[in-house]
Amino acid sequence: MQEFYYQSTRGGGKRAAAAEAIISGIAGDGGLYVPSRIPKLDITLEDLLPLDYRGRAYHVMKPFLPDYTEAELTACIQGAYGEKFSVPGIAPLTKRAGTLFLELFHGPTLAFKDMALTLLPYLLSTALRKEGVDREVVILTATSGDTGKAALEGFAGIPGTRVIVFYPEQGVSAMQKRQMVTQEGDNTHVIGIEGNFDDAQGGVKEIFADAGLASRMDRRGYRFSSANSINVGRLIPQVAYYFHAYLQACAAGDISLGDPVVFVVPTGNFGNILAGFYAKMMGLPVGTLLCAANENRVLADFFATGVYDRRRELLTTMSPSMDILVSSNLERLLYQASGRDGEAVTRLMDELSREGRYRIPPLTAANLKDFAAGHASDEEAGAAILRVFREAGYVMDPHTAVAYSVWQKYRKEWREDTPAIILSTASPYKFARDVMTSLGLPTGEEDFTLLKNLSTCSGTPVPEALKALEKLPVRHRARCTRGEMREAVERILWG
Ligand SMILES: *Cc1c(COP(=O)(O)O)cnc(C)c1O
Repeated sequence: MQEFYYQSTRGGGKRAAAAEAIISGIAGDGGLYVPSRIPKLDITLEDLLPLDYRGRAYHVMKPFLPDYTEAELTACIQGAYGEKFSVPGIAPLTKRAGTLFLELFHGPTLAFKDMALTLLPYLLSTALRKEGVDREVVILTATSGDTGKAALEGFAGIPGTRVIVFYPEQGVSAMQKRQMVTQEGDNTHVIGIEGNFDDAQGGVKEIFADAGLASRMDRRGYRFSSANSINVGRLIPQVAYYFHAYLQACAAGDISLGDPVVFVVPTGNFGNILAGFYAKMMGLPVGTLLCAANENRVLADFFATGVYDRRRELLTTMSPSMDILVSSNLERLLYQASGRDGEAVTRLMDELSREGRYRIPPLTAANLKDFAAGHASDEEAGAAILRVFREAGYVMDPHTAVAYSVWQKYRKEWREDTPAIILSTASPYKFARDVMTSLGLPTGEEDFTLLKNLSTCSGTPVPEALKALEKLPVRHRARCTRGEMREAVERILWG
């Protein structure tokens, strides 16, 4: 059997075992870690059918984590996918308005980030033990709203770790902000940035690349890692729910084992949909992976033209977790599509940072045929929320609504009749104000009254995790500019 390890998308740096790659977060040369090959599933889909989420997740993840023992990985999975989720199925598939929705928002922070960020702390603590790391690991994270809370919740109180989250003050929903600034746990830190998500993400990448800071950290017994989807420890757990979705559709009789399905993925940083691509390469019968963007349509334009162009204004939409112009994980796809050519990826990434754009060569573009893309405006997403509610009494969140809207347009245009599964990435309660507006209901109330009103109209209970926020005190008030981020980190770590 061919050796399995992780290597950088930029071709440099050292080979790493999974545990090392998870601890580091980012590769030594500034690239992202990718597996040396995408492993095949070592069990048939038929044999996965009778298993529950944990069993399926084990078999999907094990080939990516060969340095974890069976007992280690099982313990990680048991810790993550249990009572932290409000439904026993973890990620249920539901059919509404003739459409299949994979609900990925039943975790502690009500967004799909929980699917990976409940597991990552276990994978990381196990990795630290395995690698004999005696440093305190500082999880540095930029968030467009959902990652931050999920990382805080996942790492709060985990010994040997500290988590620092930067969020754009103008770019998150009221509930998202409230979730973060009320976070408990002495090892948690939350800082608002005067800027947008790209500022926060760019600042964090610079801090990671700062050699001087790294050596000051080292002298004081710290090292950085990341809970962003640049960390392979975020990506691998996400592959599992594509299999889980598919097998549920089989069990419900919506498809037969072996039939292809289209996955429609509301996309920002390209982590979620990339996991779907990995699932396909592992052997899952996936037709098209449909990348759904909001008005920040950089990715949709990229798939249409082969040109990635970030030189545009970042718009604030009602799907803030997709308000991104630089999608980090696209680099992993480019690596695969260029025939694993680290030099080619380095050139494109250099061009992106120098000129704000790049064009991929025709041969690379030809390797992107598994993907299609589209975009939807706030108006279209709002109309979709209203339509599905009228038709099926089902309330989608604005991110899911972007995916639904893109799918409706796509299937009409291409006469696609393959069944689709829409990834439903957040609870509508996280975005109650925009959801109520889309439904044409009054929104004059304060935030927590809105939650109750949404509950009355949708016939679903207000999630406990949000209800509890009303009584929690604000614990984090720090804010800074992009230029002050490094200083803020140093102040937290050594005063
Ligand atoms: C993060 C997020 C997305 C985008 O996922 P990526 O992996 O960044 O593409 C979509 N919807 C919601 C609700 C999210 O939190």
